[in-house]
Amino acid sequence: MIVTIDGPSGVGKSTVTKELAARLGFEYLDTGAMYRAVALAMIRRGVALDDHAAVEAALAGLHVEMPPGRVLLSGEDVSGAIRTPEVSQGASKVAVIAGVRRFLAAEQRGTAAGRDIVCEGRDQGSFVFPDAACKFFLIADPRVRAERRAAELAAKGQSVSVEEVLAHQDERDARDADRDIAPMRPAPDAVIVDTTHLTTEQVIERIERAVRGRRDRGGE
Ligand code: C5P
Repeated sequence: MIVTIDGPSGVGKSTVTKELAARLGFEYLDTGAMYRAVALAMIRRGVALDDHAAVEAALAGLHVEMPPGRVLLSGEDVSGAIRTPEVSQGASKVAVIAGVRRFLAAEQRGTAAGRDIVCEGRDQGSFVFPDAACKFFLIADPRVRAERRAAELAAKGQSVSVEEVLAHQDERDARDADRDIAPMRPAPDAVIVDTTHLTTEQVIERIERAVRGRRDRGGE
């Protein structure tokens, strides 16, 4: 059974996905981490991210693997290295490139085949897994998302203003929503969950209830 959770940056997808997967006994796949790994590889190789042909050429020989809770780039654990502002912006730049999306969508379908899995991203329900049994699209007020993110960073000892987080978030959301291929948008059959006034626990409970209901009714 495949469950998809899509939505913009900072909406809480990762936390919800991991906890939901744990409660259901499913695996999970963080597809944003895969775009981040590709961006990191290109930055390290000095490939200009707006040179689509060069990025596509550099994909040959690149191996992105997603063992549980980790991201491996050609065997190296880059789980920490992909979580920088530079790589966040870079990921949304390589994500507009057709060859990158084709490459990663194939990896994502291969990873999910035959598994019970929760897949998190921007296009999982709309494009990569159109036949997924349960699809969710999380939304929240942009300022609330930025405030949550700034608080998260502050807890890690990084002081970034809400305004700065909001500016980066807007830039990334616009690039994700406006691209030609697999733009970020809910699948027609996705359940939209507005998390603005919900706690993480409430979001998880709501989604878990829907997935269990679907499974009890014989969702594939
Ligand atoms: O979710 P995360 O912030 O890690 O994603 C990084 C970037 O990867 C997003 O801004 C988006 O451009 C891209 N992405 C995508 N499709 C996905 C997952 C992520 O285009 N399924």
